[in-house]
Amino acid sequence: MGLLVVGSVAFDSVETPFGKVEEALGGSATFFSTSASYFTDVRLVAVVGEDFPEKHINFLKMRRIDLRGLERTKGKTFRWQGRYGFDLNDARTLRTELNVFENFRPKLPEEYKDTKVVFLANIDPDLQRDVLTQVSRPDIVAADTMNFWIEGKRDSLIETLKSVNILLINEAEARQLAGEANLVKAAKKISSFGPETLVIKRGEYGVLMFRGKSVFSAPAYPLESVFDPTGAGDTFAGGFMGYLSNVMDWTETSMRKAIVMGSVMASFNVEDFSMNRIRNLEYAEIEARYREFRRLSHFEDL
Ligand code: AMP
Repeated sequence: MGLLVVGSVAFDSVETPFGKVEEALGGSATFFSTSASYFTDVRLVAVVGEDFPEKHINFLKMRRIDLRGLERTKGKTFRWQGRYGFDLNDARTLRTELNVFENFRPKLPEEYKDTKVVFLANIDPDLQRDVLTQVSRPDIVAADTMNFWIEGKRDSLIETLKSVNILLINEAEARQLAGEANLVKAAKKISSFGPETLVIKRGEYGVLMFRGKSVFSAPAYPLESVFDPTGAGDTFAGGFMGYLSNVMDWTETSMRKAIVMGSVMASFNVEDFSMNRIRNLEYAEIEARYREFRRLSHFEDL
């Protein structure tokens, strides 16, 4: 059945203490689709400008991502510039240029409209809803967002959240969205906006999942070399949603395994700049790291 995603396709310029890249392939939907493509069929909805090179299109095609919903229009592709200090959990946005996203009105290809699992990656919440209203009857809607939209389009975001089952969000952004410092209280408040499941991403400290009365905590993989955290959240979401859309099982057991799959994919992504590490993974590498994750937090009850 596949997994539909709307989000940004971008050129990222990123600086970390370990190096920098200019205008590398990025964007929330790009990281998400690439990661999810290891688990399921992905249908992409986004827009790029005339400056978007064919080699990036070919890469997405090589990952067997359905590009019928990727428009190319007059103008420049979305651009994001960010910087990280030694605390790689904290991205500083230096520049956001929406460019072709400014006037983008997505029109879903007919073949996408029956998709059952939808991911609204980080993008303007108006666009997220625009896409959602064109899907005939989705079973599960998950979403991501960031401070840029929490600050700039709060009312629209709250409107989108009414239709969302699972929200994935950074720790700092969860606090900001809820206006609440305590994460447990923040999770309750955000659930009252709509999403019954909340996945809070905590960078190198792992992930917390809140579902009703249940809380699940997963660590991040302790890596010796972390170069660039850009896209870690989207890559996590790709592994999480890709796995779930493959098994089509939304029980607690399955959601917990999906959290670990997301963490596995994010752990690969941060090992190199841009998409470099997740471009061409072997499935055996994913499985091996999944097993290492199991060992990482396994303990016996004596
Ligand atoms: P993350 O997974 O949070 O590190 O996401 C990083 C990606 O989000 C980058 O590839 C950016 O191109 C993209 N991005 C940054 N700001 C925005 C925004 N305001 N809307 C959509 N995408 C964005």
